[in-house]
Amino acid sequence: MVGNRTLLEVKSLRTYFPLDEGLVRAVDGADFKLVSGKTLGVVGESGCGKSVTAQSILRIVPRPGKIVEGELLFHRYSKEGDAFSMADVVDLAKLDPRGRDIRRIRGNEIAMVFQEPMTSLSPVHTMGNQIAEVILLHQKVSQAEARERTLDILHRVGMPKPSQTIDSYPFELSGGMRQRGMIAMALSCHPSLLIADEPTTALDVTTEAQILDLMRELQEELGMAIMYITHDLGVVAEMAELAVVMYLGKVVERADVDSLFYNPHHPYTKALLRSIPRITEDRRKWLEAIRGMVPDPYNMPSGCPFHPRCVSAQKQCEEVDPPWVEVEPEHWARCVLYADGTTETGQG
Ligand code: SF4
Repeated sequence: MVGNRTLLEVKSLRTYFPLDEGLVRAVDGADFKLVSGKTLGVVGESGCGKSVTAQSILRIVPRPGKIVEGELLFHRYSKEGDAFSMADVVDLAKLDPRGRDIRRIRGNEIAMVFQEPMTSLSPVHTMGNQIAEVILLHQKVSQAEARERTLDILHRVGMPKPSQTIDSYPFELSGGMRQRGMIAMALSCHPSLLIADEPTTALDVTTEAQILDLMRELQEELGMAIMYITHDLGVVAEMAELAVVMYLGKVVERADVDSLFYNPHHPYTKALLRSIPRITEDRRKWLEAIRGMVPDPYNMPSGCPFHPRCVSAQKQCEEVDPPWVEVEPEHWARCVLYADGTTETGQG
């Protein structure tokens, strides 16, 4: 199943929240694509629009949020022998968020794992019943077969004693076991795309390492694409082949992981990288912090939204909307410093 098939193209996505306090542009220009068998790391500080981008793809943006612009082109393939051919392309942005079409895709072809399983799992149903319910919703199988498949997927995600934990309630399981249960639920219908929103943030480092290993193994086995949302650049380095950096709703840099880490271009990405502790550095040296605070979403800075915090800011940065520039082949940045490079129109 592994290959380099484009599964999802996010084009100029904008998702806004009209609130009494003002208009919040939670996602204000996101462009990237997800490819089978590969992981895209989506990185940025809290409030930069990472989770709303994921909610937009699944069409679960909470009200009054709304996609106001852009395309979410989901590609489907049919398989004959080992060969894939494109079956159809659906623009998820055009579907009714409560309609049948998106309900068929959500949890089936595109699945999501959340940060805190307890907020997503029902406390009054057993782990096994919750996974079986997803299987029964999307596949034509009997109750007995759904239970059989649930047991099998619990085995595959490394759940300890699956024949017992299948009948356990979430509160009876540890944080790591609950997260394995969530991953089992997400993978129960063999999705082509898995969105993981900070799935290991609430876990200790040992369990985090086990869950990351598990996701990589399952990706290799199932060939799915993973969109991995995190604020942790270390996890991106470990998990992803491609990465996008978001700041205040905009994708400000997009590249393969090696280029992003070894040759970052956007001043925000450079600042994020400087703020990570490195094993080779003098331990007495202070870590660099990004100056200032993330601005109030109701009161966004003019021009480049990063200008009040940017060490490279110029006079024009307060006024102009920075261009989206190809700074190297397949490496893009949104910054006036590279305005002489190739720009792409229509990129938000
Ligand atoms: Fe900094 Fe200006 Fe580039 Fe924005 S456009 S990141 S303020 S140099």
